[in-house]
Amino acid sequence: MTDPQHIIEVAIPLYLEKTFHYLVPERLQHEALTGRRALVPFGNRKLTGYILGKAAGSEIIKLKEIIEILDSEPLWTACELEFFRWTASYYQHPLGEVVRTALPAGINIQTRKGTTGEDSHLTGGKNVRREKFYLPGPTEDPLRQPSAKAQEILAVIREAGNISAADLRKRFGVCTPQLKRLVELDLSRIEEREVYRDPFKDCIVKLDEPRCLHTHQKGALDAIADALNLQKFSPFLLYGVTGSGKTEVYLQAISHALDLGKNALVLVPEIALTPQLTGRFQARFGGGIAILHSGLSDGERYDEWRRIRRGLARIVIGARSAIFAPLDKIGIIIVDEEHEGSFKQSDGLRYNARDLALVRGRLEQSAVVLGSATPSVTSIHAASEGRLTLLGLPERVEGRPMPVVELVDMKGSKTTLSASLSLCLAETLEERRQAIVFLNRRGFATFLVCTDCGKPLTCPNCSVTLTYHRQRGQSLCHYCDYAVPAPGTCPACRGTTLSELGAGTEKLEYELKELLPSARVLRMDSDTTSGKGSHERLLTRMNDGSADILVGTQMIAKGHDFPEVTLVGVVNAEASLGMPDFRAAERTFQLLSQVIGRAGRGENPGRVVVQAIDTGHYAIRSAAEHDAAGFYQQELEFRREAGYPPFTFLAAFAISGLAEHTVSEQADMTARLLAQLKSELKIRVDILGPVPSPIYRLRNRFRRQILLKAVIRGDLHRLLAFWRQRVNVVSTVRISVDIDPVDMM
Ligand code: ADP
Ligand code: ZN
Repeated sequence: MTDPQHIIEVAIPLYLEKTFHYLVPERLQHEALTGRRALVPFGNRKLTGYILGKAAGSEIIKLKEIIEILDSEPLWTACELEFFRWTASYYQHPLGEVVRTALPAGINIQTRKGTTGEDSHLTGGKNVRREKFYLPGPTEDPLRQPSAKAQEILAVIREAGNISAADLRKRFGVCTPQLKRLVELDLSRIEEREVYRDPFKDCIVKLDEPRCLHTHQKGALDAIADALNLQKFSPFLLYGVTGSGKTEVYLQAISHALDLGKNALVLVPEIALTPQLTGRFQARFGGGIAILHSGLSDGERYDEWRRIRRGLARIVIGARSAIFAPLDKIGIIIVDEEHEGSFKQSDGLRYNARDLALVRGRLEQSAVVLGSATPSVTSIHAASEGRLTLLGLPERVEGRPMPVVELVDMKGSKTTLSASLSLCLAETLEERRQAIVFLNRRGFATFLVCTDCGKPLTCPNCSVTLTYHRQRGQSLCHYCDYAVPAPGTCPACRGTTLSELGAGTEKLEYELKELLPSARVLRMDSDTTSGKGSHERLLTRMNDGSADILVGTQMIAKGHDFPEVTLVGVVNAEASLGMPDFRAAERTFQLLSQVIGRAGRGENPGRVVVQAIDTGHYAIRSAAEHDAAGFYQQELEFRREAGYPPFTFLAAFAISGLAEHTVSEQADMTARLLAQLKSELKIRVDILGPVPSPIYRLRNRFRRQILLKAVIRGDLHRLLAFWRQRVNVVSTVRISVDIDPVDMM
């Protein structure tokens, strides 16, 4: 008989619904503890499994034995496991896959325990970086003097006490022979140390002081501080117009949490935002900050992860995946720009970090602050129902006025820049101030049309038009990166004259330089920010005044604080309205309000010129008139009438494959099965579709979608759970289910 004490429950990172039971052999009994990884036999393979705990009871008589334990310390806590379980159940995703998503990618590079027996995830392994440090050696006065360069290096080593090889190289260039000589002469000695790859390493920070809060800030801070003192789950919506001082409230709330011995988790939407924000956190708190975002290498990410697990970082700042940070004693979770779609993961475990922040906050009994100048319609609704406590910052810091906005009707106009915007730009330059011009499309022309046959150039793999990028001399597909030399010939009729339609940021930059030859124009979009550090360089040039005009896509709309920007221009305000997505108006309103909010954040008042064709649209008009309340009211009415969130809950099925016919067949079968289950179980869910997805073909795959809508969330989850038990898909077709979908394309 097997002693039930020696049976453990293990999750396997594969697309399997259930977890597995394994037997722990005698020799591993002290090590096979919850939170560690184990190498387990699985079929005829050996896989890494995650130990969840003792098995509650096992029906299987002949269990397999685990092979070895891969960690000497736990990777997650009981509270974190509960969070993983909740996530797995809500998103109907295998627990093993959730745990794998939560752990840093770098951890999988090293696994095995070394022969020395001391390797573990925290203390060793291949992916832990060790670096050579040079220290003064035992000899001070050698028999033979080293070269002049070596003596110079020695002086630096002596002064520093210890210095890494990398730092020496930075200072002296190649210096290996000199260092070798110094060691030979016993003038220096080498020590190997474990180092954390520090993403902050090249920044120098000047510490600042907490500011004296204005009345609204103080009100918000007091409410959060009260919640922190009570140490119970308290969700807030910090709704503060652009430049109202939300970040200052975050900083002081975190400071209060730290004073109480608690830690803080800060989620920000994109890597692009972090340099300025992390700078402010560093200036306030100095060290003890870890950052986690997609721009880190696996090694850097793993290092940050270990620092957090070891308690060396008490503040964690990161993009969406930071919601899984191994931080304990969380007093406060902040979700900055909570309305941003990028908190939603678009493949694999399709979680939304903004929503999970509320879940983790509840499990950790912490304060959760969702902050935004343009909250999601869902958050506004939740606040109106009292599910979020509303904290308002209705005014800008120091009574700075909101910018004056002029709405320019572009109907019938053939130019990219209106007379009004051109004039304002010229004036701004004359006043030696800065301007931002926003256009939410990159490239030179958003499509090329053959003048002979009238057909646009399209991607052979996707049902989208190619964008002409003049500088690169290519027409590009923005979805699959297919590229052809531009302008090229028409693939349909071999015609050679292609006309350029729809201006993108590259064209805008070109036109601005023509219009204002003396202006120093910068462009910020994903074409100009792909290189490491390029984004920061552009921001620096704006901040130090070595640029006059910044042109860009939505990347420039967010978070930046350029005090010298007094003019903002918006070209093609309705670019995002045409999307077949019920959130199109919400996104347009948010984006426009955010861009408009970039003007006049410093001492000089701002003005804005918004160019639009549909100037009467409520999303554009409300943003231009700073009438957020009006927008939310109208949008909520529309959502209620049309039966969209927050009044219903959605799940989207995406069915895709290489053969059009099979995809269509499988989509129909899926819808039929759902309909059958719905009537069998009497579940109140609307099944819409299948219909072709808005982008019908993507990377050669044909795509159809089915949307499920329910008034009660539980109904939706029940139907999905039953569907999972019955589904049977041919292997050539992929079906994914997205709970609370954000991307409807
Ligand atoms: P938001 O995050 O709402 O856009 P910030 O926190 O960035 O606003 O504040 C805008 C500017 O005002 C920043 O430069 C910030 O340092 C400054 N600021 C914030 N609060 C105060 C205050 N109470 N007194 C003076 N300046 C402040
Ligand atoms: Zn393509």
